[in-house]
Amino acid sequence: MTDFARHVGALRERSPFYRDKLAGIEDAPFEALPFTTKDELRESLAAEPPLGRHLAAPLEDVRRVYSSSGTTGDPSYIAVTQADVEGWTEIGARSYAATGIAPSQRAVLTYNSGPFVAGAVLDAWARIGATTIPVGSGNTERLVRAFQVLGAEALGCTPSYALYLADWCRERGIEPRELGVRVFSVAGEPGGGEDATRHAIEEAFGATVREAMGIADVSPSLWGECEEQAGMHFSGEGHVHVELIDPEAGEGLPFEDQAEGELVYTSLRREAMPVLRFRSRDRVVVNAQPCSCGRGGIRVRCIGRTDDLLIVRGVNLFPTALREVVAEFGGGPILIRPAHEGVRQDAPPRVLVEVEGDPAPDLARAIRDAIRSRLVVTTEVELVPYGTLPRSEYKSKLVDFGESATR
Ligand SMILES: [Zn+2]
Repeated sequence: MTDFARHVGALRERSPFYRDKLAGIEDAPFEALPFTTKDELRESLAAEPPLGRHLAAPLEDVRRVYSSSGTTGDPSYIAVTQADVEGWTEIGARSYAATGIAPSQRAVLTYNSGPFVAGAVLDAWARIGATTIPVGSGNTERLVRAFQVLGAEALGCTPSYALYLADWCRERGIEPRELGVRVFSVAGEPGGGEDATRHAIEEAFGATVREAMGIADVSPSLWGECEEQAGMHFSGEGHVHVELIDPEAGEGLPFEDQAEGELVYTSLRREAMPVLRFRSRDRVVVNAQPCSCGRGGIRVRCIGRTDDLLIVRGVNLFPTALREVVAEFGGGPILIRPAHEGVRQDAPPRVLVEVEGDPAPDLARAIRDAIRSRLVVTTEVELVPYGTLPRSEYKSKLVDFGESATR
Protein backbone atom coordinates (compact mmCIF):
# COMPACT_ATOMS: atom_id res chain seq x y z
CA MET A 1 0.00 0.00 0.00
CA THR A 2 1.33 3.43 -0.87
CA ASP A 3 1.78 6.18 1.68
CA PHE A 4 -1.16 7.96 0.10
CA ALA A 5 -3.55 5.04 0.20
CA ARG A 6 -2.62 4.41 3.83
CA HIS A 7 -3.02 8.09 4.61
CA VAL A 8 -6.41 8.34 2.95
CA GLY A 9 -7.56 5.15 4.70
CA ALA A 10 -6.50 6.54 8.07
CA LEU A 11 -8.22 9.84 7.33
CA ARG A 12 -11.50 8.09 6.64
CA GLU A 13 -11.16 6.12 9.85
CA ARG A 14 -10.15 8.92 12.20
CA SER A 15 -11.59 12.15 10.85
CA PRO A 16 -15.37 12.67 10.59
CA PHE A 17 -14.66 15.61 8.27
CA TYR A 18 -12.76 13.45 5.77
CA ARG A 19 -15.15 10.52 6.16
CA ASP A 20 -17.87 12.80 4.78
CA LYS A 21 -15.64 14.53 2.26
CA LEU A 22 -14.34 11.29 0.77
CA ALA A 23 -17.66 9.45 0.85
CA GLY A 24 -18.31 7.72 -2.45
CA ILE A 25 -14.73 8.21 -3.67
CA GLU A 26 -13.18 4.77 -4.03
CA ASP A 27 -9.88 3.89 -5.70
CA ALA A 28 -9.44 7.36 -7.15
CA PRO A 29 -5.87 8.33 -8.03
CA PHE A 30 -4.37 10.76 -5.57
CA GLU A 31 -4.52 13.66 -8.04
CA ALA A 32 -8.27 13.14 -8.35
CA LEU A 33 -8.93 13.49 -4.63
CA PRO A 34 -10.62 16.74 -3.55
CA PHE A 35 -8.70 19.73 -2.23
CA THR A 36 -9.15 21.00 1.31
CA THR A 37 -9.52 24.74 1.87
CA LYS A 38 -9.05 26.92 4.92
CA ASP A 39 -12.73 27.86 4.72
CA GLU A 40 -13.71 24.21 5.05
CA LEU A 41 -11.59 23.85 8.18
CA ARG A 42 -13.21 26.98 9.63
CA GLU A 43 -16.67 25.57 8.90
CA SER A 44 -15.63 22.28 10.49
CA LEU A 45 -14.51 24.12 13.65
CA ALA A 46 -17.79 25.99 13.85
CA ALA A 47 -19.84 22.85 13.23
CA GLU A 48 -18.33 20.86 16.06
CA PRO A 49 -16.62 22.88 18.81
CA PRO A 50 -14.14 22.99 20.30
CA LEU A 51 -11.74 21.54 17.69
CA GLY A 52 -13.91 20.66 14.75
CA ARG A 53 -14.91 17.63 12.70
CA HIS A 54 -11.40 17.39 11.27
CA LEU A 55 -9.91 16.53 14.68
CA ALA A 56 -8.53 13.06 14.05
CA ALA A 57 -7.12 12.21 17.49
CA PRO A 58 -8.78 11.85 20.90
CA LEU A 59 -9.07 15.24 22.60
CA GLU A 60 -7.06 13.94 25.58
CA ASP A 61 -4.07 13.29 23.28
CA VAL A 62 -3.92 16.94 22.19
CA ARG A 63 -0.88 18.58 23.79
CA ARG A 64 -1.07 22.12 22.42
CA VAL A 65 -3.75 24.25 20.81
CA TYR A 66 -2.44 27.13 18.71
CA SER A 67 -4.50 29.71 16.83
CA SER A 68 -3.82 30.91 13.34
CA SER A 69 -3.48 34.61 12.67
CA GLY A 70 -6.60 35.03 10.61
CA THR A 71 -7.19 38.59 9.54
CA THR A 72 -10.95 38.30 9.85
CA GLY A 73 -13.35 36.57 12.16
CA ASP A 74 -12.68 34.13 14.97
CA PRO A 75 -9.28 32.55 15.55
CA SER A 76 -8.85 29.22 13.87
CA TYR A 77 -7.49 26.53 16.19
CA ILE A 78 -4.57 24.26 15.36
CA ALA A 79 -4.28 21.19 17.60
CA VAL A 80 -1.16 19.03 17.88
CA THR A 81 -0.31 15.81 19.70
CA GLN A 82 3.13 15.11 21.14
CA ALA A 83 4.08 13.22 17.97
CA ASP A 84 2.91 16.20 15.91
CA VAL A 85 5.16 18.52 17.94
CA GLU A 86 8.03 16.10 17.25
CA GLY A 87 7.28 16.17 13.53
CA TRP A 88 7.15 19.96 13.44
CA THR A 89 10.43 20.10 15.34
CA GLU A 90 12.17 17.79 12.88
CA ILE A 91 10.94 19.70 9.83
CA GLY A 92 11.69 23.04 11.49
CA ALA A 93 15.22 21.99 12.41
CA ARG A 94 15.90 21.13 8.75
CA SER A 95 14.50 24.37 7.41
CA TYR A 96 16.12 26.66 9.98
CA ALA A 97 19.48 24.89 9.70
CA ALA A 98 19.29 25.72 5.98
CA THR A 99 18.76 29.41 6.83
CA GLY A 100 21.97 29.50 8.85
CA ILE A 101 20.85 28.76 12.42
CA ALA A 102 23.73 26.65 13.76
CA PRO A 103 24.74 24.63 16.83
CA SER A 104 25.99 26.78 19.73
CA GLN A 105 25.25 29.95 17.81
CA ARG A 106 23.65 32.64 19.96
CA ALA A 107 20.39 33.31 18.17
CA VAL A 108 17.66 35.77 19.10
CA LEU A 109 14.06 34.74 18.45
CA THR A 110 11.27 37.32 18.22
CA TYR A 111 8.36 34.93 17.78
CA ASN A 112 6.25 34.62 20.92
CA SER A 113 5.64 31.17 22.38
CA GLY A 114 2.00 31.67 21.52
CA PRO A 115 -0.71 31.91 20.40
CA PHE A 116 0.55 31.52 16.81
CA VAL A 117 2.34 28.40 15.59
CA ALA A 118 5.52 30.43 14.97
CA GLY A 119 6.22 29.85 18.66
CA ALA A 120 7.02 26.23 17.82
CA VAL A 121 10.17 27.48 16.08
CA LEU A 122 11.74 27.55 19.56
CA ASP A 123 11.66 23.73 19.58
CA ALA A 124 13.30 23.61 16.14
CA TRP A 125 16.17 25.87 17.20
CA ALA A 126 16.66 23.78 20.34
CA ARG A 127 16.86 20.67 18.14
CA ILE A 128 19.54 22.32 16.01
CA GLY A 129 21.47 23.06 19.18
CA ALA A 130 21.45 26.84 18.92
CA THR A 131 21.73 28.94 22.07
CA THR A 132 18.35 30.58 21.71
CA ILE A 133 17.58 33.93 23.30
CA PRO A 134 13.79 34.36 23.13
CA VAL A 135 12.78 38.01 23.37
CA GLY A 136 9.26 37.89 21.93
CA SER A 137 7.81 40.51 19.66
CA GLY A 138 7.62 44.23 20.40
CA ASN A 139 10.61 44.08 22.72
CA THR A 140 13.20 45.93 20.71
CA GLU A 141 15.28 47.27 23.62
CA ARG A 142 15.68 43.79 25.04
CA LEU A 143 16.56 42.48 21.58
CA VAL A 144 19.23 45.11 21.01
CA ARG A 145 20.75 44.33 24.42
CA ALA A 146 20.88 40.63 23.51
CA PHE A 147 23.24 41.58 20.69
CA GLN A 148 25.19 44.18 22.65
CA VAL A 149 25.55 42.25 25.91
CA LEU A 150 25.17 38.57 25.02
CA GLY A 151 26.98 38.80 21.71
CA ALA A 152 24.16 37.24 19.71
CA GLU A 153 24.89 36.54 16.04
CA ALA A 154 21.59 35.48 14.46
CA LEU A 155 18.07 36.90 14.47
CA GLY A 156 14.79 35.20 13.62
CA CYS A 157 12.10 37.74 12.73
CA THR A 158 9.80 38.97 9.97
CA PRO A 159 11.40 41.04 7.18
CA SER A 160 9.18 43.96 8.24
CA TYR A 161 10.64 43.78 11.70
CA ALA A 162 14.20 43.73 10.34
CA LEU A 163 13.53 46.99 8.48
CA TYR A 164 11.82 48.47 11.53
CA LEU A 165 14.82 47.51 13.67
CA ALA A 166 17.21 49.37 11.36
CA ASP A 167 15.11 52.54 11.69
CA TRP A 168 14.74 52.04 15.45
CA CYS A 169 18.51 51.83 15.88
CA ARG A 170 19.29 54.85 13.71
CA GLU A 171 16.72 56.98 15.54
CA ARG A 172 18.63 56.23 18.74
CA GLY A 173 22.07 56.86 17.35
CA ILE A 174 22.94 53.16 17.11
CA GLU A 175 24.61 52.06 13.88
CA PRO A 176 22.75 48.86 12.85
CA ARG A 177 25.99 47.27 11.63
CA GLU A 178 27.46 47.56 15.11
CA LEU A 179 24.83 45.22 16.55
CA GLY A 180 26.77 42.27 15.15
CA VAL A 181 23.86 40.47 13.43
CA ARG A 182 25.49 38.04 11.00
CA VAL A 183 22.43 36.02 9.96
CA PHE A 184 18.83 37.05 9.49
CA SER A 185 16.50 34.07 9.35
CA VAL A 186 13.28 35.72 8.23
CA ALA A 187 9.79 34.28 7.91
CA GLY A 188 6.12 35.08 8.36
CA GLU A 189 5.58 37.05 5.14
CA PRO A 190 7.17 37.43 1.72
CA GLY A 191 9.93 40.05 1.59
CA GLY A 192 13.05 38.11 2.55
CA GLY A 193 12.99 36.67 -0.94
CA GLU A 194 12.51 39.99 -2.73
CA ASP A 195 15.78 41.43 -3.95
CA ALA A 196 15.09 44.98 -2.83
CA THR A 197 13.90 44.13 0.69
CA ARG A 198 16.71 41.62 1.14
CA HIS A 199 19.37 44.07 0.00
CA ALA A 200 17.96 46.81 2.23
CA ILE A 201 18.28 44.55 5.28
CA GLU A 202 21.68 43.18 4.26
CA GLU A 203 23.03 46.67 3.58
CA ALA A 204 21.73 48.10 6.84
CA PHE A 205 23.18 45.38 9.05
CA GLY A 206 26.07 43.93 7.02
CA ALA A 207 24.37 40.53 7.41
CA THR A 208 22.99 37.81 5.15
CA VAL A 209 19.24 37.35 4.84
CA ARG A 210 17.76 33.92 4.24
CA GLU A 211 14.13 33.01 4.54
CA ALA A 212 11.96 30.20 5.85
CA MET A 213 8.30 29.53 5.16
CA GLY A 214 5.58 27.34 6.60
CA ILE A 215 1.84 27.33 7.05
CA ALA A 216 -0.09 26.99 10.29
CA ASP A 217 -2.40 24.18 9.20
CA VAL A 218 0.47 21.99 8.00
CA SER A 219 3.75 22.91 9.75
CA PRO A 220 5.12 26.23 11.06
CA SER A 221 8.17 25.81 8.84
CA LEU A 222 8.40 23.68 5.71
CA TRP A 223 10.99 25.46 3.59
CA GLY A 224 14.40 26.97 4.31
CA GLU A 225 16.81 28.90 2.15
CA CYS A 226 20.49 27.96 2.09
CA GLU A 227 23.61 30.05 1.52
CA GLU A 228 23.06 30.13 -2.25
CA GLN A 229 20.11 32.46 -1.55
CA ALA A 230 18.26 31.28 -4.63
CA GLY A 231 15.05 29.98 -3.08
CA MET A 232 13.90 27.83 -0.16
CA HIS A 233 14.57 24.09 -0.06
CA PHE A 234 11.66 21.81 0.79
CA SER A 235 12.29 20.44 4.28
CA GLY A 236 9.18 18.35 4.90
CA GLU A 237 10.31 15.03 3.37
CA GLY A 238 8.65 12.07 5.05
CA HIS A 239 6.15 14.29 6.84
CA VAL A 240 4.42 16.30 4.16
CA HIS A 241 3.72 15.70 0.48
CA VAL A 242 3.87 18.85 -1.61
CA GLU A 243 2.24 19.56 -4.98
CA LEU A 244 2.24 22.53 -7.33
CA ILE A 245 -1.04 23.41 -9.02
CA ASP A 246 -2.47 25.94 -11.39
CA PRO A 247 -4.54 27.97 -8.91
CA GLU A 248 -7.28 28.78 -11.41
CA ALA A 249 -7.72 25.40 -13.10
CA GLY A 250 -6.80 23.34 -10.03
CA GLU A 251 -4.64 21.03 -12.13
CA GLY A 252 -1.26 19.69 -11.08
CA LEU A 253 1.91 21.25 -12.53
CA PRO A 254 5.34 19.60 -12.69
CA PHE A 255 8.01 21.14 -10.44
CA GLU A 256 9.97 22.38 -13.44
CA ASP A 257 12.43 25.24 -13.42
CA GLN A 258 10.59 28.59 -13.42
CA ALA A 259 7.17 26.92 -13.09
CA GLU A 260 4.73 29.16 -11.23
CA GLY A 261 1.76 28.02 -9.18
CA GLU A 262 0.15 27.46 -5.80
CA LEU A 263 1.55 25.03 -3.21
CA VAL A 264 -0.74 22.25 -2.01
CA TYR A 265 0.13 20.10 1.00
CA THR A 266 -0.86 16.68 2.29
CA SER A 267 0.27 15.76 5.79
CA LEU A 268 1.54 12.19 5.93
CA ARG A 269 2.03 11.78 9.68
CA ARG A 270 -0.06 14.36 11.50
CA GLU A 271 -2.22 12.82 14.22
CA ALA A 272 -4.42 15.63 15.49
CA MET A 273 -5.33 17.57 12.35
CA PRO A 274 -4.04 15.87 9.19
CA VAL A 275 -4.94 17.57 5.92
CA LEU A 276 -5.39 16.21 2.42
CA ARG A 277 -4.42 18.36 -0.57
CA PHE A 278 -4.62 21.57 1.45
CA ARG A 279 -4.66 24.75 -0.65
CA SER A 280 -1.94 26.99 0.83
CA ARG A 281 -2.84 30.08 -1.22
CA ASP A 282 0.93 30.70 -1.43
CA ARG A 283 2.09 31.43 -4.98
CA VAL A 284 5.63 30.39 -5.78
CA VAL A 285 8.17 30.18 -8.59
CA VAL A 286 10.22 26.98 -8.76
CA ASN A 287 14.01 26.77 -8.96
CA ALA A 288 14.79 23.22 -10.10
CA GLN A 289 18.54 23.77 -10.59
CA PRO A 290 20.87 21.56 -8.50
CA CYS A 291 22.18 23.42 -5.44
CA SER A 292 25.79 23.69 -4.31
CA CYS A 293 24.77 23.15 -0.67
CA GLY A 294 24.03 19.50 -1.44
CA ARG A 295 20.42 19.62 -0.28
CA GLY A 296 18.31 17.78 -2.79
CA GLY A 297 14.82 18.45 -3.95
CA ILE A 298 13.12 21.52 -5.17
CA ARG A 299 13.47 25.13 -4.19
CA VAL A 300 10.80 27.82 -4.36
CA ARG A 301 10.53 31.55 -4.07
CA CYS A 302 7.21 32.85 -2.71
CA ILE A 303 5.84 35.66 -4.86
CA GLY A 304 2.74 36.40 -2.83
CA ARG A 305 -0.38 35.09 -1.23
CA THR A 306 -3.63 34.71 -3.10
CA ASP A 307 -5.20 36.45 -0.08
CA ASP A 308 -3.29 39.67 -0.90
CA LEU A 309 -4.09 39.54 -4.58
CA LEU A 310 -5.92 42.43 -6.21
CA ILE A 311 -7.31 42.04 -9.70
CA VAL A 312 -7.16 45.47 -11.31
CA ARG A 313 -9.18 45.61 -14.52
CA GLY A 314 -8.61 41.90 -15.00
CA VAL A 315 -4.87 41.91 -14.27
CA ASN A 316 -3.42 40.13 -11.23
CA LEU A 317 -1.53 42.47 -8.91
CA PHE A 318 0.49 41.08 -6.00
CA PRO A 319 1.28 43.94 -3.58
CA THR A 320 4.73 42.47 -2.94
CA ALA A 321 5.55 42.69 -6.66
CA LEU A 322 4.53 46.34 -6.64
CA ARG A 323 6.73 46.95 -3.60
CA GLU A 324 9.66 45.48 -5.55
CA VAL A 325 9.18 47.93 -8.42
CA VAL A 326 8.93 50.88 -6.04
CA ALA A 327 12.07 49.80 -4.19
CA GLU A 328 14.10 50.11 -7.39
CA PHE A 329 13.47 53.85 -7.16
CA GLY A 330 14.61 53.90 -3.54
CA GLY A 331 11.04 54.37 -2.35
CA GLY A 332 9.13 52.59 0.39
CA PRO A 333 7.48 51.48 2.56
CA ILE A 334 4.31 51.54 0.48
CA LEU A 335 0.58 51.30 1.16
CA ILE A 336 -1.98 50.44 -1.49
CA ARG A 337 -5.39 52.03 -1.09
CA PRO A 338 -7.87 50.44 -3.50
CA ALA A 339 -10.75 52.57 -4.72
CA HIS A 340 -13.30 50.25 -3.14
CA GLU A 341 -13.67 47.01 -1.18
CA GLY A 342 -13.03 43.67 -2.84
CA VAL A 343 -10.44 41.77 -4.83
CA ARG A 344 -11.68 42.99 -8.22
CA GLN A 345 -10.95 46.65 -8.80
CA ASP A 346 -12.21 48.66 -11.75
CA ALA A 347 -10.36 51.91 -10.93
CA PRO A 348 -6.61 52.45 -10.52
CA PRO A 349 -5.68 51.93 -6.86
CA ARG A 350 -3.80 54.70 -5.04
CA VAL A 351 -0.28 53.75 -4.07
CA LEU A 352 1.28 55.77 -1.26
CA VAL A 353 5.07 55.68 -1.44
CA GLU A 354 7.36 56.98 1.26
CA VAL A 355 10.40 58.90 0.03
CA GLU A 356 13.24 60.43 1.98
CA GLY A 357 14.16 64.09 1.46
CA ASP A 358 13.06 66.09 -1.58
CA PRO A 359 12.02 63.77 -4.39
CA ALA A 360 12.76 64.54 -8.03
CA PRO A 361 9.76 66.34 -9.60
CA ASP A 362 8.90 63.48 -11.95
CA LEU A 363 9.49 60.62 -9.47
CA ALA A 364 5.82 59.76 -8.92
CA ARG A 365 5.24 59.60 -12.64
CA ALA A 366 8.38 57.49 -13.19
CA ILE A 367 7.25 54.99 -10.56
CA ARG A 368 3.75 54.88 -12.02
CA ASP A 369 5.14 54.26 -15.52
CA ALA A 370 7.44 51.50 -14.24
CA ILE A 371 4.51 49.80 -12.47
CA ARG A 372 2.46 50.01 -15.65
CA SER A 373 5.17 48.65 -17.90
CA ARG A 374 6.32 45.88 -15.57
CA LEU A 375 3.05 44.78 -13.95
CA VAL A 376 0.62 45.96 -16.64
CA VAL A 377 -1.44 47.76 -14.01
CA THR A 378 -2.41 51.44 -13.86
CA THR A 379 -2.07 53.08 -10.46
CA GLU A 380 -2.11 56.55 -8.94
CA VAL A 381 1.22 57.03 -7.21
CA GLU A 382 1.42 59.61 -4.40
CA LEU A 383 4.66 60.40 -2.63
CA VAL A 384 4.52 60.91 1.13
CA PRO A 385 7.34 61.88 3.55
CA TYR A 386 9.47 59.12 5.01
CA GLY A 387 8.11 57.76 8.29
CA THR A 388 4.47 58.74 7.75
CA LEU A 389 2.97 55.33 6.89
CA PRO A 390 2.22 52.92 9.75
CA ARG A 391 5.14 50.68 10.74
CA SER A 392 4.75 47.11 11.89
CA GLU A 393 6.83 45.13 14.32
CA TYR A 394 5.28 41.97 12.93
CA LYS A 395 3.91 41.75 9.41
CA SER A 396 3.58 44.66 7.01
CA LYS A 397 0.15 45.65 5.87
CA LEU A 398 0.43 46.45 2.17
CA VAL A 399 -3.23 46.96 1.30
CA ASP A 400 -5.62 49.15 3.26
CA PHE A 401 -9.28 49.11 2.32
CA GLY A 402 -10.26 51.13 5.38
CA GLU A 403 -9.62 54.57 3.97
CA SER A 404 -11.19 53.81 0.59
CA ALA A 405 -14.44 52.70 2.20
CA THR A 406 -14.91 56.18 3.64
CA ARG A 407 -13.70 58.09 0.63
ZN1 LIG B 1 20.99 24.86 -1.22
